[in-house]
Amino acid sequence: MSDPLKPLLPGATLGVLGGGQLGRMWAHAAQRMGYHTAVLDPDPQSPAGLVSHHHICTDYLDPQGLAQLAALCQAVTTEFENVPADALAQLAAKLFVSPSAHAVAIAQDRAREKAHFVQCGVPVAPHAVIDTPEQLAAVSDSLLPGILKTSRLGYDGKGQLRVRTREELNAGWATLGRLPCVLEKMLPLAAECSVIVARGRDGTCVHLPVQRNLHRGGILAVTEVWAGNVSAELAQEAVAAAHAVAEGLRYVGVLCVEFFVLADGALVVNEIAPRPHNSGHYSQDACDVSQFELQVRCMADLPLTPPRQHSPAIMLNLLGDLWFSQQLGSDPNSSRPTEGAAAKRGDPVAPPWAQVLALPGTHLHLYGKREARVGRKMGHLNITATTPEQARSVALQAAAVLGMAPF
Ligand code: ATP
Ligand code: MG
Repeated sequence: MSDPLKPLLPGATLGVLGGGQLGRMWAHAAQRMGYHTAVLDPDPQSPAGLVSHHHICTDYLDPQGLAQLAALCQAVTTEFENVPADALAQLAAKLFVSPSAHAVAIAQDRAREKAHFVQCGVPVAPHAVIDTPEQLAAVSDSLLPGILKTSRLGYDGKGQLRVRTREELNAGWATLGRLPCVLEKMLPLAAECSVIVARGRDGTCVHLPVQRNLHRGGILAVTEVWAGNVSAELAQEAVAAAHAVAEGLRYVGVLCVEFFVLADGALVVNEIAPRPHNSGHYSQDACDVSQFELQVRCMADLPLTPPRQHSPAIMLNLLGDLWFSQQLGSDPNSSRPTEGAAAKRGDPVAPPWAQVLALPGTHLHLYGKREARVGRKMGHLNITATTPEQARSVALQAAAVLGMAPF
């Protein structure tokens, strides 16, 4: 193992479990700083594997693959939260791993995650853990209507059911395979936001500004970031809660904390992601340190200086849907094609990038995925400007050109 008291300087090899877009953008940030990168992902075409110095194409729990990664690297991170915690634990016996298997295990399990929030003294949605028929029967009526969420392996709104009555709750639990679940009371949301923190080995904790997020169909669609996008008090509260959650885990690495802002202005923590997050992508073009550079700095034990946002920013998520809408020849304001309609369209056509990039302050990020599918994250467009109004104006024009609904 490398000397734990010395930072890993450029020239060292850093590794990541998972080869998706988050791993790819992390590899780009690491390489820009002079590091070598290694990716472990079973997919030979994985977005991160395609751009990395080393690509180990094995399963996450393959002993040989893990041994190869450990031999190549001086530090390892993960880019998806459902990485087997066991893989992280095995690697941690040999080299520096951040975040820890313990922190990832908590983020993987909604019930443990909620218990952690409560322990940290941050507000959570009223909820009940349902692991057994007895716990199901004991659920209080005050949690209905609610959202039933599987405790593990949910993402982008998958593994969730809205339930209005006790009958729907009982049927819903059966639909979800009677897996361990959390039932959350349905809350009146005024807005959603998130905060990204980066915490180093010495306990230094820095954050990016509060991000305001718009979801469509359970998937992040738009993130808007500038001072005043949420009230100063709310922003302060969200940042303090995000720091408390990271401190409570003795977290090392980049952590995203997602929040709900309720109709009465109250703030509630929803969930955490133990890695850079889709809502932090604007930082690549709008901040002096991006969330991916923060991840590299945490792994290498380099100093964490407070990031500064230098431009108001909007991020538009580019889902596979866009590759099909162009082929439909639909006018930009028409509704999105349905999954069935898109699936029948054959080869997708590239969206009109030249038209998008003709707009000032647009930054295109595509993940190199070969096949576009409805709902698949293919890339994102960051828009930076000198004022929030300008950023919004350009973002709305870009959305119109791409055939995305206005926001
Ligand atoms: P991801 O991991 O992609 O962020 P997820 O599948 O883990 O998503 P959640 O973040 O729990 O799911 O929920 C997805 C969306 O559903 C939220 O962003 C929010 O819009 C809505 N939602 C979730 N829980 C509640 C709630 N208790 N009350 C009202 N709306 C909710
Ligand atoms: Mg979420």
